[in-house]
Amino acid sequence: MTNNDGSSASGLFDTNKGIAYDDFIILPGYIDFNVEDVSLETNLTRNLKIKKPLTSSPMDTVTECRMAIGLALLGGIGFIHYNNTIQEQYEEVRKVKRYENGFINNPVVLSADHTIADIYAIKEKYGFSGIPITESGELNSKLIGIVTNRDTDFENNRGKKLREVMTTDLVTAKKGISLKEANDILKKSKKGKLPIVDEKGNLVALMSRNDLVTNREFPFASKDDRKQLMVGAAISTKDESKERLDALVEAGVNVVVIDSAQGNSRFQIDMIKYVKNKYPEIDVVGGNVVTEDQCSNLIKAGADALRIGMGPGSICTTQTTMAVGRAQANAIFKCARFSRKNNVPVIADGGIANIGHITKALSIGASTVMMGSMFAGTEEAPGEYFYENGIRLKKYRGMASLEAMKEGGEKRYFAEDAAIKVAQGVSGSVMDKGSLLEYVLYLIQGLKHSFQDIGAKDIYSLHELLYSGDLKFELRSMSAQMEGGVHDMYAYTKPKYL
Ligand code: GDP
Ligand code: GDP
Ligand code: 5GP
Repeated sequence: MTNNDGSSASGLFDTNKGIAYDDFIILPGYIDFNVEDVSLETNLTRNLKIKKPLTSSPMDTVTECRMAIGLALLGGIGFIHYNNTIQEQYEEVRKVKRYENGFINNPVVLSADHTIADIYAIKEKYGFSGIPITESGELNSKLIGIVTNRDTDFENNRGKKLREVMTTDLVTAKKGISLKEANDILKKSKKGKLPIVDEKGNLVALMSRNDLVTNREFPFASKDDRKQLMVGAAISTKDESKERLDALVEAGVNVVVIDSAQGNSRFQIDMIKYVKNKYPEIDVVGGNVVTEDQCSNLIKAGADALRIGMGPGSICTTQTTMAVGRAQANAIFKCARFSRKNNVPVIADGGIANIGHITKALSIGASTVMMGSMFAGTEEAPGEYFYENGIRLKKYRGMASLEAMKEGGEKRYFAEDAAIKVAQGVSGSVMDKGSLLEYVLYLIQGLKHSFQDIGAKDIYSLHELLYSGDLKFELRSMSAQMEGGVHDMYAYTKPKYL
């Protein structure tokens, strides 16, 4: 039932006045479901679905492996930044992909002549220490034992050969077994590892009991069909990125974002075509864009999703310095409406400062949001905490701040070869937000309540309401915005969650 109370989104945005998240409000709908019935599943790209619409920015103070692992476990996805060497970015992606597995198809293997010191070296490098032992010390060779923590815990002599400490009484499973059957053996055997062998007894894969536990603890995790966590990574439009791309694909990346402040360029169009041609199975996010024309060019080139935003970022000075960009709500609505015709989802990137902003971005057409400052300052963000005036802080900086550009961030801004580098971002700090895991659970629960108030059970039906005109909005005057915030208090505290 359509009525005239409130404005449809097109009524709001087709006037071409710049509107920010805080300038509008969503009118409540009808509730006939519980908060826990809300699903936040969504399309990250044309081909990839994730359970929660949250992504982290490819920025060097936001996303390395710890952030990407944490977000993927909770149903979102992180994009590893590229302000590093190809090898470093490769390693970050590898660490995410190695974190959880179904079958581990390329387990680290040793021979009986290796020593306990070799086990410690592997533990130091990769974090695990359950190592199958084969005759040749390689995969596809006869399995003769396994060394786990319990075999080495109380051994002081690190020079001791593994043949003297390895366990040889093994529970194994045969190649070709289904994941479910293998899991059942793993559960019954009560062992930490299950080696998988072929008919000749050669080791072909390994399974870890802890992965089953992780799977139970994080049922919404974003995983690929090998049950490894999904991860994205940034590349640039420069030629160097072709080599970077090869390394990322080898590491197992699921999606790449072509990181550019103004995405509508010949360089980007060429790069999208290059990636889609060489690796059709890898999804490509193009961007950043804010107009329909820009979307059109990148969609034609083959982009599987678009990243929307030019200038709304908390650390960003583009709109002031360059006089180019767009108010973020307008950008999202126009680009999402256009891209939907081509089945290309959009990511609302930048300017998100609270749960309400996430809901607003989704309600005007975004399928996911990308956040920098919201995740900066969590334990999982790169960098160490420090204190200033007694407040615990972490560094957060724009990739086009002078500081980040000096270390390679200028790739995003076509500024690598420029004699004078013009900053389009600032560097500073944000307050400690504690553990990402708790913080994201708070965001998710808040979003569910928000969807319930709107009367939408999921993101897909929210978009149906949006495009049918049944989702109603209203512009807010400055005093309406003040009225909607806390006011007329002498003092108050603002804890965010229990
Ligand atoms: P479904 O595809 O919706 O049935 O559910 P899942 O993909 O979560 O799981 C399918 C099977 O794979 C179940 O037996 C899970 O226990 C198992 N599984 C899921 N994730 C992992 C994992 O990381 N490691 C292992 N070993 N098994 C997993
Ligand atoms: P371990 O007992 O020290 O080997 O460690 P856990 O079994 O607790 O955890 C190992 C984690 O690393 C699991 O999530 C595995 O899926 C993952 N992993 C990835 N590659 C390998 C590998 O080559 N060997 C082992 N043991 N684990 C791996
Ligand atoms: P935030 O979530 O902090 O508001 O914004 C993060 C987003 O700002 C990033 O995903 C990226 O699109 C953008 N960004 C990152 N660094 C810079 C910068 O130095 N300048 C500009 N203009 N944008 C930036």
